[in-house]
Amino acid sequence: MFQAFLIKYGEIGIKGKNRYLFEDALVKQIRHALKPVEGEFQVSKEQGRIYVACPQDYDYDEAVEALQRVFGIVGICPTVCVEDEGFDKLSRDVLAYMDEVYPDKDKSFKVCARRARKNYPMDSMEINAEMGHRILEAYPQMHVDVHDPQIMLTIEVREKIYIYSEIIPGPGGMPVGTNGKCMLLLSGGIDSPVAGYMVAKRGVKIDAVYFHAPPYTSERAKQKVVDLAAQVAKYAGPVYLYVVNFTDIQLYIYDKCPHDELTIIMRRYMMRIAEELARKNEALGLITGESIGQVASQTVQSLAATNEVCTMPVFRPLIAFDKQDIIDIAEKIGTFETSIQPYEDCCTIFVAKHPVTKPSIPVIKRSEKKLEEKIDEMVAQAIETAECVIVS
Ligand code: ATP
Ligand code: MG
Repeated sequence: MFQAFLIKYGEIGIKGKNRYLFEDALVKQIRHALKPVEGEFQVSKEQGRIYVACPQDYDYDEAVEALQRVFGIVGICPTVCVEDEGFDKLSRDVLAYMDEVYPDKDKSFKVCARRARKNYPMDSMEINAEMGHRILEAYPQMHVDVHDPQIMLTIEVREKIYIYSEIIPGPGGMPVGTNGKCMLLLSGGIDSPVAGYMVAKRGVKIDAVYFHAPPYTSERAKQKVVDLAAQVAKYAGPVYLYVVNFTDIQLYIYDKCPHDELTIIMRRYMMRIAEELARKNEALGLITGESIGQVASQTVQSLAATNEVCTMPVFRPLIAFDKQDIIDIAEKIGTFETSIQPYEDCCTIFVAKHPVTKPSIPVIKRSEKKLEEKIDEMVAQAIETAECVIVS
């Protein structure tokens, strides 16, 4: 029954010059999100609002679900849209609307008319009073409550007339594309997809890098990461996933460095490579799924040692989250089921029995000296041969 959606978005931080950037990005993301939904949706921006005009036949639930994944949307109002053919016709449409949307009539309401087109023969107050009267007449069980109504019935008079009263919550955040781009270190685990989702929610476009160690990690493990990238892409838009072959570097570190330092040294090389890929692709920061104390490589000392090689900002949105809180988000965004599939990660293959938990940066640097002969070349090679998978 709804011919349109009126999109509500947050106003904070989008004053003045930034406003149209925010709105244009939102329109673009809405179009992208609705593409897989059958039918032609027209998304337009007019006078400080965004309208989605729906096709004749469309799947309402699918459309709402798609819109609920667009960051920047605060509310989605399913709207009945009618031509202006006089007040009598309008009141018939409004009564039909009330009847269909609220089969249970034991409710309080308030009419809130907005007249954007000033040549309409009645003013807002008159519309409110007369429409309220006609609703009460048709549905005596309903009653008016102007202070705290259960139904806030909005009637917007523009070129056409828009009738709506429901607001379905959107995800909030900012439209992707309004805050630059970052490179997500995406493993097959639970945490990193959630981290990518959270940063994307603030309007950041996401590229991703996965460190693959064939034959120690399988094609299935890689496919799992592609699947996770696809789930992040449902919210963040197309993700360019760089798959880096990390095997030689890992074996070289394993060969040359103390085994209790393997994980830290390996993580430092991951960060270096990720940063180089970020720079090449105009990403402005890195994102990881690290959380203080979760594993040996995430003690504060280990994080400091990993971070020491980075010159770009590293965003760690989960830094103070408990595992259960991360799992809750993973379930909500639909990545959890994929994340718990049991495929090996390159980090887990070469782990020592007793990895250092309080690495000293000077000691780690001394160990890395042992890699001097070949490591730069290997890093360059890994970057050069990275495979780019476009995931949408
Ligand atoms: P996750 O659940 O995201 O795998 P984790 O708890 O397993 O995290 P670690 O394995 O220590 O933690 O990895 C910490 C972070 O390093 C990950 O969140 C991810 O951002 C990055 N990372 C780890 N392994 C890889 C990999 N193979 N490819 C890309 N990034 C990785
Ligand atoms: Mg992991």
